[in-house]
Amino acid sequence: MIPQYYKEMLSHKSVIRQISEYGAARAAEVGAENVFDYSLGNPSVPAPAAFTAEMQRLLAEAEPVALHGYSPSLGIAAVRAAVAKSLAGRFGLPYETRHIFMTSGAAGAIAHALRAVCEPGDEVVTFAPCFPEYGPYVAGAGLRLRYAACLPDFQPDLDSLAAQITPKTAAVLINTPNNPTGAVYSLESMRGLAALLRQKSAELGRPVYLISDEPYREILFEGVTAVYPASLYKDTLTCYSFSKSLSLPGERIGYLAVCPGCEGEKLLVDVCGQISRGTGHNCPPSIIQLAVAKVLEATADLGVYETNMRLLYDELTALGFECPRPGGTFYIFPKALEEDAVAFCERAKRYDLLLVPSDSFGCKGYFRMAYCTGTDKVRRSLPALRALAESYR
Ligand code: PLP
Repeated sequence: MIPQYYKEMLSHKSVIRQISEYGAARAAEVGAENVFDYSLGNPSVPAPAAFTAEMQRLLAEAEPVALHGYSPSLGIAAVRAAVAKSLAGRFGLPYETRHIFMTSGAAGAIAHALRAVCEPGDEVVTFAPCFPEYGPYVAGAGLRLRYAACLPDFQPDLDSLAAQITPKTAAVLINTPNNPTGAVYSLESMRGLAALLRQKSAELGRPVYLISDEPYREILFEGVTAVYPASLYKDTLTCYSFSKSLSLPGERIGYLAVCPGCEGEKLLVDVCGQISRGTGHNCPPSIIQLAVAKVLEATADLGVYETNMRLLYDELTALGFECPRPGGTFYIFPKALEEDAVAFCERAKRYDLLLVPSDSFGCKGYFRMAYCTGTDKVRRSLPALRALAESYR
């Protein structure tokens, strides 16, 4: 029998993916250049030349077993050591090899983090609006996801978080810089969050873990700086991905970093290795681990996202859309021009403008634009955006 749980998921497929598939079909009809597809967060800028060069060098020079053999179950030791050294240098925490577990992107890291610190039946709290896949990630681990609210500027609402923490709360899952809002949590917000988690942990007599999902860590605009959450709260599992910073989403590479001093520090990475055994999710490919280890502090040319953000923010606000200015990522999250964001995004399709309604992000009345596309395309989409706004006048 196919489990009912998965059968039910078939009627709640990813809205983002569905719109992106519609975009591909529409592009085949009218030409890709005429479809303004802001659905999927699939980076368009090339991976850094240093990554490509390292891949070529490895293919030409490395031993076949090193390149194509099984990776150790926690990741290649030299790669884990390089990640630990880089994190220690950047954030001043004494990371060592033993704190790092290599994963298939942030998705793989979150899947392990949830299982490593929660018992089935436990609760996890996140802030809405949030990345829609948190729903299946959390439910798939046998856990319940609860939503705390954000403030109007999309900073976390800590009173709301406090109200959502119950005796069953095992972890709080955050994402800064944030998909879908583009908000970067301020130092003040993060200090408040850390203080609240310390207080709740003391009340509950056990840690409430922080799972910090950070695929957009490097994509910051206009001098905004991001706090490294683990530096404020020791019981943090950092989930990182090279999908966005190095433009490598298809390579499925990232890591989980256990904060030095974290409760369970000695066991957590080994436990992740056992979780992999249980889920059949083994380490990412050896060659990709080796290649990223050489470019840990490089990024793709991320400047295009800031240019795109400015173009869109200026146009959207001039047209009367309400939205906080994104501090990072490649997303913007304006209020729709009617209450029903689904109807609003349907109407946008008339102009071949593909926007994602906010409902699957856990809030109503907004839409998300993923502007990880070429600036020329963004410019050419502005008349469609104007026509859409005009249609509401
Ligand atoms: N978390 C957030 C907030 C994301 O936006 C994404 C992907 O878009 C992921 C996790 C998953 O990333 P990865 O490709 O590294 O698995």
